[in-house]
Amino acid sequence: MPEGDTVWQAARRLHDALAGKVLTRSDFRVPRFATVDLTGRTVLDVTPRGKHLLARVEGGLTVHSHLRMDGSWKVFAPGQRWSGGPAHQIRVILGTADRTAVGYRLPVLEVLRTADEQRAVGHLGPDLLGPDWDAARALDNLRADPARPLGEALLDQRNLAGIGNVYKCELCFLLGVTPWLPVGELPADRAAQLPALARRLLEANRDRPVRRTTGVRGQDLFVYGRAPRPCLRCGTSVRVADQGDGSRDRPTYWCPTCQSGPTPRSGGLAGAGRRH
Ligand SMILES: [Zn+2]
Repeated sequence: MPEGDTVWQAARRLHDALAGKVLTRSDFRVPRFATVDLTGRTVLDVTPRGKHLLARVEGGLTVHSHLRMDGSWKVFAPGQRWSGGPAHQIRVILGTADRTAVGYRLPVLEVLRTADEQRAVGHLGPDLLGPDWDAARALDNLRADPARPLGEALLDQRNLAGIGNVYKCELCFLLGVTPWLPVGELPADRAAQLPALARRLLEANRDRPVRRTTGVRGQDLFVYGRAPRPCLRCGTSVRVADQGDGSRDRPTYWCPTCQSGPTPRSGGLAGAGRRH
């Protein structure tokens, strides 16, 4: 699942390729918008909002997309071989004289009036990489449901926008608590650090091809994807168990020594290390 930094990179690629240029090709391959034709319109900008992408075009229209699990936007030069997947996975093609942007497998793709963008993204909390970032409001949102496990609350884009499963795990590690700790039990000093820490992680990674939270090249993440290998800080075997986000379960990693708080009773999948 893409995190806010991935979406930010995609938005910048699209912005660099399309903004300020006139569309010479417009091909929507989803039934609802198959007749939409944006050719002749100039692309104004492409902006990330949480994990949503908003491409605004002249005439007050916005192409709204979301990558979800495996959608992607690719940009190609004329004559370049398209490499984003088989043709039947293409959902939209937007071309200018010198660049073609192709959206593959986009589970969310719609054209709406720019004035109606709030309908698509208005539910989102403060955007970690956005100009509207508001740490106090993000923290208030997270704490509004004190019994909710921290990991679930962090993934809920209505609280704050931009955190995916990788940063959820890494952030809980950096805070020294398990993702199952009820938000209301997060010590005050750590709660106060949380918004700035989350923003720092995403900002530090938005220009990087490889996601890194440790500051150490070659050992990029503290716990995510590491079970049953040793925790980078203390050497304890990292564990993994599923945690829901309201819609589906996600593999969730933690170090039983560095992180305090509840863990799932059946936690620690095979090979994920010693149990308490
Ligand atoms: Zn550890």
